[in-house]
Amino acid sequence: MRFDTKLLHNGNEICSVTGASSIPIYQASTFHQFSIDQPGEFDYARSGNPTRQALEATIAQLEGGCRGFAFASGMAAISTVFLLFSRGDHLVVSQDVYGGTYRVLTNVFERMGIETSFVDTTDLEQVMQAIKPNTRALYIETPSNPLLKVTDLRGVVNIAQAHGLLTIVDNTFLTPYYQRPLELGADIVIHSATKFIGGHSDVIAGLVAVKDRELAESLAQLQNAFGAVLGAHDAWLVMRGIKTLKARMELSTRSAEKVALWLQQHPDVERVYYPGLPSHEGHYVQDAQASGHGAVLSFDLGEGDKVRQFLQRVKLPIVAVSLGAVESILSYPALMSHASMPPEVRLKHGITDGLLRLSVGLESADDLIEDLAQAMSFSVPIAVGK
Ligand SMILES: *Cc1c(COP(=O)(O)O)cnc(C)c1O
Repeated sequence: MRFDTKLLHNGNEICSVTGASSIPIYQASTFHQFSIDQPGEFDYARSGNPTRQALEATIAQLEGGCRGFAFASGMAAISTVFLLFSRGDHLVVSQDVYGGTYRVLTNVFERMGIETSFVDTTDLEQVMQAIKPNTRALYIETPSNPLLKVTDLRGVVNIAQAHGLLTIVDNTFLTPYYQRPLELGADIVIHSATKFIGGHSDVIAGLVAVKDRELAESLAQLQNAFGAVLGAHDAWLVMRGIKTLKARMELSTRSAEKVALWLQQHPDVERVYYPGLPSHEGHYVQDAQASGHGAVLSFDLGEGDKVRQFLQRVKLPIVAVSLGAVESILSYPALMSHASMPPEVRLKHGITDGLLRLSVGLESADDLIEDLAQAMSFSVPIAVGK
């Protein structure tokens, strides 16, 4: 069965009891045991809930894993995966990893004796150099945020396998619709399902899929022990989002490509970062490991003043933290996702005061371009009243 059909027919879409066309929201915290000697499949909803279980089975199928897990947020998923490691272990992590991941590693797990080296994982030489005798895993985000840097997943997997390390991939930006790291040899895939998988800016959720049964058993125990599970209603919302993943990814990616090309020729835009542009550094690696370029791009207006004017004038995209939704979302990394980074470090990483990130939604690409164009007429004074 082809992947797009699997989004709708994966064995977890129909209620096996009533035939209902969507899995019911089992809003229950505990389950009656009809016989104390023969306990049922479910006992307590932290350990298992039928709605959550359907979502967990779905993500396992879509990512090509043996088991899936649903968490209360992307960060809950990421943090629970890090609980696989112990005092004295060392991790090698993408330098421009999601800010929350950086924070939990440096503020929390470091305090508990788990050490991390942040390196530019687009350079495999740096990955290799960072490995120590106590390294246990390579943790990759590709494309990365906000400069859409692309890491060669097969290259990273080869290094990991040669050193007996786990490869963990945050696949939030592309989703299994475009990129399936487990099929490329990774061991664990993580999602902030808050983004494209949920897709409607109405739920916070995290997902994990793993390939190996033993690893799945360890994660199942950690999920239950730590307890940061996804609620039944939110699990249902995420499943509903998955049904339209193909339509949303295809359409928003097509528009992102159009917007990126338009931005590239605009005189006020100094640089466009989008893996779909042949001029993007990671374009060919991306094409070798993913079937699409995704709907997120960044562009540099050169100066903070222009960004302020632009954000005041732009009408269609919401200006917000987050990405991957039906509506377009504009973020200003310098004051949002990367505000906690010292300015000199931020600038060194290319996150300038002129940089904006756009997650393209399902609006007409032509309307979006017209809106960006009017917001970029920097010589025209801002109209009073807007
Ligand atoms: C948003 C995001 C996260 C964190 O997910 P939450 O659902 O906000 O906890 C992790 N990784 C990436 C790449 C993200 O974009």
